[in-house]
Amino acid sequence: MTAVCIRCGVEKELALTRCPGCGLVPAGDDRALSVLASRRMLGEAELAEVRRRIRTGEPFRPARARLALATAVLAGSANIEPFAFTRASAVSLLLANVLLTPALGFAVWFGVRHRPGLGARQALWLTVPVAGLLAVGRVVIWKFGPG
Ligand SMILES: [Zn+2]
Repeated sequence: MTAVCIRCGVEKELALTRCPGCGLVPAGDDRALSVLASRRMLGEAELAEVRRRIRTGEPFRPARARLALATAVLAGSANIEPFAFTRASAVSLLLANVLLTPALGFAVWFGVRHRPGLGARQALWLTVPVAGLLAVGRVVIWKFGPG
């Protein structure tokens, strides 16, 4: 099951296609609702629960924040694909943090902070210690350095 119809609860292949049960083609606000009633936004158990509720006649009324996220996903402005660094990309970020500025690492963290997966935590692990060491280094140079 990858999606359910928000009107009748029948299983569908894709969130935005015509329902094989009732013929509903999601349009307008129904598009965000339909994305929410799919594996793109929900786990298997959650989706099964949504399906059960729709089939028993309960209206599907997700929280406003969830609906806003689904709308952003539809507009392509929110990426909810899981993300994690590979070893090579982790080394690249670490080097960029050390050789250029740790602001890069914080920018990467900011960009991936809402995505599932380890990526956001990894970005902080690769950035915060470097930023800390550089800050300590600056203080040491300021206190004991030449000039
Ligand atoms: Zn339907």
